[in-house]
Amino acid sequence: MALDPERVVSQLRELQALTGDEDGAQRVAWTDTWNRARAWLDGLLDGLPLVRERDPAGNDWWTLRGASERAVLIGGHIDSVPNGGWLDGSLNVVAGAEVLRRLAEEGTPPVTVRLVNWADEEGARFGRSLFGSSAAAGSMRDQEELRQLTDRNGITLPDALAANGVDLDRAIEARAQLDSAAAYLELHIEQGPVLESMDIPLGAVLGTYGVERWRVTWTGQAAHAGSTPMDKRRDALAGAAKLALEIRDIAARVGNGAVCTSGGVVCRPGIVTSVVETAVQLLDQRHLDAASLAELLRQAREASERFAAEERLEVSWERIWSIEPILFDLALIHLCDGACREVAGVSHRLPSGPLHDAAEVARAGVPTVMMFVQSLRGLSHTKLEDTREEHLALAVAALDRLADTTIAHVSEA
Ligand SMILES: [Zn+2]
Repeated sequence: MALDPERVVSQLRELQALTGDEDGAQRVAWTDTWNRARAWLDGLLDGLPLVRERDPAGNDWWTLRGASERAVLIGGHIDSVPNGGWLDGSLNVVAGAEVLRRLAEEGTPPVTVRLVNWADEEGARFGRSLFGSSAAAGSMRDQEELRQLTDRNGITLPDALAANGVDLDRAIEARAQLDSAAAYLELHIEQGPVLESMDIPLGAVLGTYGVERWRVTWTGQAAHAGSTPMDKRRDALAGAAKLALEIRDIAARVGNGAVCTSGGVVCRPGIVTSVVETAVQLLDQRHLDAASLAELLRQAREASERFAAEERLEVSWERIWSIEPILFDLALIHLCDGACREVAGVSHRLPSGPLHDAAEVARAGVPTVMMFVQSLRGLSHTKLEDTREEHLALAVAALDRLADTTIAHVSEA
């Protein structure tokens, strides 16, 4: 049977009805609803000549054996955040299942093709994202910390995993799954406004942003709001305010997609009758290029020293978290661009702000690319998340095209 993109849309509606409610999708990993969704996904592939396997991290694999062991992987995640959308993650795997069905019905492909449903991409219940893909990628190095995690009801992560047949100590054995991987493909909704603003349905993703996340603490002197002349003040908020505006200029100067956010400032004593003594400011900077990311940080730190001198403050910086940019494979980006263009007549290359399972797979050294389909209003992780059905159908057709060109690319290599 030929590919049926419209069927994917109706299957996604079916999943939405099966695992969602009036507040949105409820497929939180390591819950009954998630297990219902996993079983439902498996049912889509009933009757096909596939090898099914659940690996030690709880990832589900469906393998169509090809003439060669080298494998093209298509991946996604069926888990959602609480009150999530109908497409984040599920589009990837349901579309992937349709492509795998089409390939399986055509006979033995020249290379092996595998669909993977990663376990717990969102980290919604225990606060740790990319569980299954990091185990498979070999980057899960925080098992001691994972052991301490609890959910809202005090249930520990190891207990929740065990209830789902996963032993935390053995999760990293999932690594063997990537041994034969020659390419990894992931379709996802954009979750941002770029493609919609350009009126382009589909795009090829260049990689995921590197992130520098810092806490900047400004220290001045609390003083009476009435008795302290303006020129005698050491106002910590003034430093934070100057930096919050300066990062816009820094992002503009460094350019090429740079984004900088001052996501919050907490002031003490925080009362209307006192000059601010300490201002604790949160800063997030992102770029696809490592040198540019370092430059964003360097300019922000330099500016903070200047503002501290101007306002007679002390300033200190403390790193909260960081990750390097993860670039996707140039040859696969080219194939992805071609598939989008062939199906939609137009394409666009763009970076991804959010992290995805694809970033973990790419970090493990597997050539990787993602395809984005337009999101309406840029919304995600809410029941308002949506994409036009005709664009979803285009995305399925383009993923199918990309699977074919990637299979050819891998089998020629
Ligand atoms: Zn996702």
